[in-house]
Amino acid sequence: MALRITDECINCDVCEPQCPNNAISMGESIYVIDPDSCTECVGHHDEPQCKVVCPVDCIEIHPQWKEDQQALMAKYRTLTGKN
Ligand code: SF4
Ligand code: SF4
Repeated sequence: MALRITDECINCDVCEPQCPNNAISMGESIYVIDPDSCTECVGHHDEPQCKVVCPVDCIEIHPQWKEDQQALMAKYRTLTGKN
């Protein structure tokens, strides 16, 4: 699954530099996650780093973007070029 940022985001800028896939960027009014680049941190960390650091807990699983561990690992490999 990819994660998404809800409209409770306070634009604190903390999550963006933590993302190992550069999936987080400033959107029109709040930060957004590119689901094509989010592996839920699979391949890099044990936990989603953006979720760990967010002070208002406004990052959740994207309801329309379901992927299992295998798919996330495949995405990680594609993004990083690692086998
Ligand atoms: S879960 Fe990981 S890969 Fe996905 S946006 Fe958050 S920090 Fe980036
Ligand atoms: S850490 Fe949370 S509140 Fe801060 S910019 Fe990221 S999503 Fe928004």
